[in-house]
Amino acid sequence: MACRYANIIVDISHEKVDRPFQYIVPDSLKERIDVGMAVMIPFGKGNKLIKGYVMELTDKADYDVSKLKQIDSIVEGAVSVQSDALVLADWIRTNYGSTMIAALKTVLPVRQKMKQAVKKTVCCKVSSDRALELSGEFENKHQKAKARLMQALALQPEILQNMVTGKLNISLKTIRLLEQAGYVEIKQENTYRMPFPKNMSEAWGNGKDKKLSDSQAAVVNDIISDFKLGKRGEYLIHGVTGSGKTEVYMELIARIIDEGKQAIVLIPEIALTYQTLVRFFARFGDRVSVMNSRLSQGERSDQFERAARGETDIIIGPRSALFTPFERLGIVIIDEEHEPSYKSDSMPKYHARAVARQLCRIKGASLVLGSATPSLEAYYAAQKGDIRLFELGERIAGGHLPKVYIEDLREELKKGNRSIFSRRLYSLINDRLQKGEQSMLFLNRRGYAGFVSCRACGYVVKCPHCDVSLSEHTDARSRVSSLKCHYCGYEIPRMNICPQCGSKYILGFRAGTQQIEELLHKDFPQARVLRMDADTTRTRDSYEEILSQFANEEADILVGTQMIVKGHDFAKVTLVGILAADMSLYASDYRAGERTFQLLTQAAGRAGRSGLEGEVVIQTYQPEHYAIVHAAAQDYKGFYEEEIAYRDMMLYPPAAHMMAVLVLSDNEPDGRGCAAELADMIKRCFDSDRPIVIGPSQAAVGRINDIYRTVLYVKHKNYDVLVRIKDAVENVIAEKGWNRDSVQIDFDPVNAY
Ligand code: ADP
Ligand code: ZN
Ligand code: ZN
Repeated sequence: MACRYANIIVDISHEKVDRPFQYIVPDSLKERIDVGMAVMIPFGKGNKLIKGYVMELTDKADYDVSKLKQIDSIVEGAVSVQSDALVLADWIRTNYGSTMIAALKTVLPVRQKMKQAVKKTVCCKVSSDRALELSGEFENKHQKAKARLMQALALQPEILQNMVTGKLNISLKTIRLLEQAGYVEIKQENTYRMPFPKNMSEAWGNGKDKKLSDSQAAVVNDIISDFKLGKRGEYLIHGVTGSGKTEVYMELIARIIDEGKQAIVLIPEIALTYQTLVRFFARFGDRVSVMNSRLSQGERSDQFERAARGETDIIIGPRSALFTPFERLGIVIIDEEHEPSYKSDSMPKYHARAVARQLCRIKGASLVLGSATPSLEAYYAAQKGDIRLFELGERIAGGHLPKVYIEDLREELKKGNRSIFSRRLYSLINDRLQKGEQSMLFLNRRGYAGFVSCRACGYVVKCPHCDVSLSEHTDARSRVSSLKCHYCGYEIPRMNICPQCGSKYILGFRAGTQQIEELLHKDFPQARVLRMDADTTRTRDSYEEILSQFANEEADILVGTQMIVKGHDFAKVTLVGILAADMSLYASDYRAGERTFQLLTQAAGRAGRSGLEGEVVIQTYQPEHYAIVHAAAQDYKGFYEEEIAYRDMMLYPPAAHMMAVLVLSDNEPDGRGCAAELADMIKRCFDSDRPIVIGPSQAAVGRINDIYRTVLYVKHKNYDVLVRIKDAVENVIAEKGWNRDSVQIDFDPVNAY
């Protein structure tokens, strides 16, 4: 099937070149070239050589053949896009909006094969007696290095070369001299770079399968019997942390492997701890491989190579592990599916959940989602019957759910307590210090965007149109403050007196983890305090280090941001304090309630993991807010009912769909102008579809690195209508010749802009 022409996508991200270009396949390449390959082609007037991907091979010329250029060469060592991945890339481009090349790069996270690593071993070629003899001879000739090596080899006839050059401190030159003399030999062997912690191999294959509980077994049996009947379903496992979800995943994988298939397991990077990995390695040995952002390029390349060759059956990793080139994919498991990190933050802004669904359709695989606090999306789909829901009610190890107190900070103020610690939290911290038990204090700054609230009555200023809280903005020059809505741009002057109760304590919340640490030192001088936040976890291993220090009981109190609610189990933690639950509640974002509920539930789940009783203190100015009330009661269903009613009323996802169009510009009027032009076009061309167009307005972060950010939102019940609107937006961009990267599209955004 030696075709004459190739249609090629060029590696340039610009709307104008976002289409295949036709090239002649030279005779010399006809036998080797294939769809999905990376090739070098002359491009543009100067015929500069650039990279491109072959999308199609054909014998039909679409243009005047005399004008077609020839492919220059095949890129050696490049990873080809598999045909399934091409289909997936096209789906991603269509449904999220981006150029084809950006979509291709997304499905091809490893693009270049790295040379395999070589393992070199120094081997003794003489008997050990002779080696000792030689060592003596060298010693007499004062050739110390040679003597040392021969002596070492007398004891151990094969030693890794980097041990010899490292620990034994012997130069390569010395080794070569001994090799020339015929006493030693250097053996070379290709190996894969294995990105596993050193002592991981001890755990390999040593795991005993646990006997599943009846409710665990029921989940596995239902999913596997569907699978054996040829039914490829979608499933949601809703179960508190410790209810045995991971054990269910492993059993599912084992059974899927028995069927001759392979498995992808997505775990948010931050939750991908050593303990979790050990469990998988213990059970599946070197059939498992891992992806994470710490892997070197070589390690990544090797993991994908092993997967492509069918040498592994399981990959565990964050979002991008979805694009592992498994031939026989049977199941995709997404743990903690509610995590916002499953949404890509660069173009194309895809969601791993939706892409996984599509991948499973293409590959004929099943999709399993798991969470203690399912996303509204997943639970909504379960309610509609699109996903089958399983509930794992209880913790396997038993233990009571912790006792939760909601502390009303307005009352504290009335009683004259202006400290960040409520009286209850203060006395419980003291109590734990006396008993030698540990506490975790949690300050949630995620989504923190300068909301203003009244400390006396809890009043929060909200947008009358969008029902999200307004954020404080201070003009850099005039120092005048105002309150703004990040969705629609509604703006009012900053008030100094609470409109509800007249109090002057209407303030922004500014405490940070560092101040809390200082306060703890002052109030509890005897306490040993550890702090974990973005500042203290800059270096590669500091995150694990702090957590293991705390696990080893080298501190009494751990203060931190949302990072501390994940990962390790701490047996001695019996108190969890959430200092200001309101911070996430009033992020100016329609998901604020959902995030708050998730964070509070997770944080509460850290207390009392072992036999000891746990207590949780939630401090808030809004004790009656449904996210707080239901989180304290650990009542997901109750929360879901109220939250979905709000989404339904306001047409927020998943009840409807929302597309954000973010315009980036060097100066504010230009950005505004573009966004306004797009808004007009949408209103004009899609009038009969009745989309709801909101904005344009300045984004929550209005300027980053001197780039102005203007945002426009479009809401509609029907995703397909938004896709058509997106296509129209892309057409405008192409017609006007705007830079593609300066207009970003985001479907059902997980964070406000
Ligand atoms: P989750 O993933 O829901 O947090 P895990 O699968 O990690 O739950 O289970 C919590 C703990 O209970 C783990 O230590 C696990 O080894 C143990 N466990 C889970 N299932 C069983 C079982 N069937 N028998 C005994 N121990 C179990
Ligand atoms: Zn007030
Ligand atoms: Zn608004």
